[in-house]
Amino acid sequence: MKIQVLGTKGEILKNSKDHAKHSGLFIDDTLLLDLGEKSYLKYNPKWVLITHLHPDHAYFVRKGHEEDPVSESIIYAPEKSRKGVRIFNKKKKLGPYTITPIPTHHSKHVKSQAYLIEKGGKSILYTGDLVWIDQKYHALFEHVDLVVTDGSFLREKGMIRKDKETGKLYGHNGIPNLIRLFRNHASKILFIHFGSWLLNRPKTGEQKFLALAKKYKVHLLVGKDGLSFEI
Ligand SMILES: [Zn+2]
Ligand SMILES: [Zn+2]
Repeated sequence: MKIQVLGTKGEILKNSKDHAKHSGLFIDDTLLLDLGEKSYLKYNPKWVLITHLHPDHAYFVRKGHEEDPVSESIIYAPEKSRKGVRIFNKKKKLGPYTITPIPTHHSKHVKSQAYLIEKGGKSILYTGDLVWIDQKYHALFEHVDLVVTDGSFLREKGMIRKDKETGKLYGHNGIPNLIRLFRNHASKILFIHFGSWLLNRPKTGEQKFLALAKKYKVHLLVGKDGLSFEI
């Protein structure tokens, strides 16, 4: 599969050359994961799979700028949204891809899910923003070629909050925690969706990130807008 990283910036104001756009990962010029920018529709993806309805993953829900996405693309999300967005809630085939949605913990208000994408013996797990994935789903991604996940926080435990009423955890886990979650499942982990730790200090940030790769003996990749490779 051909992977093109379109956007690697989280929901922060700061921009840099390498991290100017919100989430979007384009596979084989056909399948787009997350729609953080309206401009991604110009690539004419056949299908769009949105992990959750936060504006940096679904541009059309941005407060004060809500709109119905008008496009030839078939757009899916975990739950009901604007007109033209369909619900993706069970495993299905889209052309050559077999796609399995996997529930994730991330937000108090919106439903979120990762997508396992399989084609021709290769597989990718794209998580979107993430606190955790329940143990019962881990067998679904036992051996994947690539995990693409949440780089919001470099620090241990990231920023996780707990809803007082329901006890539900929400927010973003830390990169070390996500490495430990995925390192036995994946041969490569690509981080995207970066926060101030990388945008404010790209050099030291990247050094610290790569030190984690050494520590955990994993193949880590720093996502940059425009990065492209094959798996
Ligand atoms: Zn986000
Ligand atoms: Zn989010």
